[in-house]
Amino acid sequence: MQIHDVVVAGFGPSGIALAAAIEDHDDAHPGARPADAAYLERAATSAWQPNQVLPGTDIQHHFLRDLATPRDPRSRFGFTNFLLQSGRFYPFTLLGGYVSRLEWSEYVQWAAAQVRQPAEYHREVLRVEPVADSDGTVRTARVVSRDPRDGAVHEHLGRNVVLATGHVPYIPEVFREDLGERVFHASEFLPRMNALREKTGQSLRFAVIGGGQTAGEIILYLAGELPDARIHSLVRHGGFKMYELGHFSNEAYFPTETDYVYGLEGPAREQALAHARATNYAALDPDVSTALYQAAYQDRLTGTNRLHLHRRLEVTDVAVAGDGVRLTTNEVYTGEAGSIDADAVILCTGYEEPKFPESLQPFAPYLSYDTDGRLDVTREYRARTVDHCTVGLYLDGITEWRHGIASATSFSQMAAKAETVHNDLRATLARQLQSHPATLVS
Ligand SMILES: Cc1cc2nc3c(=O)[nH]c(=O)nc-3n(C[C@H](O)[C@H](O)[C@H](O)COP(=O)(O)OP(=O)(O)OC[C@H]3O[C@@H](n4cnc5c(N)ncnc54)[C@H](O)[C@@H]3O)c2cc1C
Repeated sequence: MQIHDVVVAGFGPSGIALAAAIEDHDDAHPGARPADAAYLERAATSAWQPNQVLPGTDIQHHFLRDLATPRDPRSRFGFTNFLLQSGRFYPFTLLGGYVSRLEWSEYVQWAAAQVRQPAEYHREVLRVEPVADSDGTVRTARVVSRDPRDGAVHEHLGRNVVLATGHVPYIPEVFREDLGERVFHASEFLPRMNALREKTGQSLRFAVIGGGQTAGEIILYLAGELPDARIHSLVRHGGFKMYELGHFSNEAYFPTETDYVYGLEGPAREQALAHARATNYAALDPDVSTALYQAAYQDRLTGTNRLHLHRRLEVTDVAVAGDGVRLTTNEVYTGEAGSIDADAVILCTGYEEPKFPESLQPFAPYLSYDTDGRLDVTREYRARTVDHCTVGLYLDGITEWRHGIASATSFSQMAAKAETVHNDLRATLARQLQSHPATLVS
């Protein structure tokens, strides 16, 4: 079986940005040996956040912070090239920099299609296993994946592996048992909604849990799309907040800040991350905050009374019965008990980072750990390994805990992160090929 230079798990923005860095480098060095990469993606396409591309939503970052421009403004993978190729360059310049989520999702898919090495879709990576040579040294990883359509198992060998599998939906404990067609996370929003509408029509009662941008967008979407729907919004604090949009605090997304955060130790680093969170999590952007407040005001003005924005309310119990869901609630400060009945409960409860990527479990004995027992990850996003393992294992977009706010769920450093991973990958590969040229093909 062929041993790839690198096997990349996940072909969303982080995986595509890395592929762009790899191919740009190969293009710039035509005489050199090109990198041999395999890209495995669980989904059928590289569509970006496909279940949450709602009409009227836009991106939260500057469009120049795309998959390639901050690394190399001449890259063929940049957003401006996408605009040129799609014939929208001049019309775009009249929009004042506004980019809808729909257009960004198209751009991400376009960029994925520009990668010469075709990605393998319908490949869910299950395990990354060490393959020991006869001298006991692990120089290769076996990446085991499954086709979600038929369960068929596939294997790829790589000298290096990049996990670019993103964050996973966070489901609070109280909702876990009742997940299904009536209680679901926002990451499943559009398909679940379409199924629900087909089954039950327009006149539905919703409970939207959470106080972040996704909750705001979903409430506005429901209010606009379903004129007969009744919507309950539940937030645990004093009401929807706005992102911290100050110029200075948003320098948290500059690569130099990643250097700074990476240099901090445990508690100090956690504190720095906690401060930066207000720039990106659990809050609304000004457009959505304004639109939501106007919608609530209009609702009161007209006496329509279908938009109920509950603050300081937490859910203590969930009971799904027949076609409905009953939420038992608790007022956070007074302790007053109550209940809300809904036809569907939408969990806008965010995402979490895996503490240890499950698929890396077979490699656990070959990895190094810090004093807190967490993976020892370099500034270049490589998990440090023991001496008798030469495989480069990269965590791309899943080390917010280590590198800070800009390194995971943001486009701000997507290209810079790809460049850092790519440079380290090339150096690792050069060492591997020099010490073991025979492993080129097994
Ligand atoms: C609704 C929404 C809007 C957002 N808007 C913005 C924005 O405007 N600006 C911004 O900077 N950030 C935004 N974000 C943050 C978002 O996380 C990043 O934009 C970006 O998607 C991160 O890219 P990623 O490739 O690291 O992770 P993901 O986008 O999560 O991509 C991971 C990929 O890996 C695949 N995958 C997962 N597990 C496996 C597996 N086991 N095997 C194979 N493939 C796998 C997934 O299918 C996916 O394609 C938004 C997030 C959400 C949820």
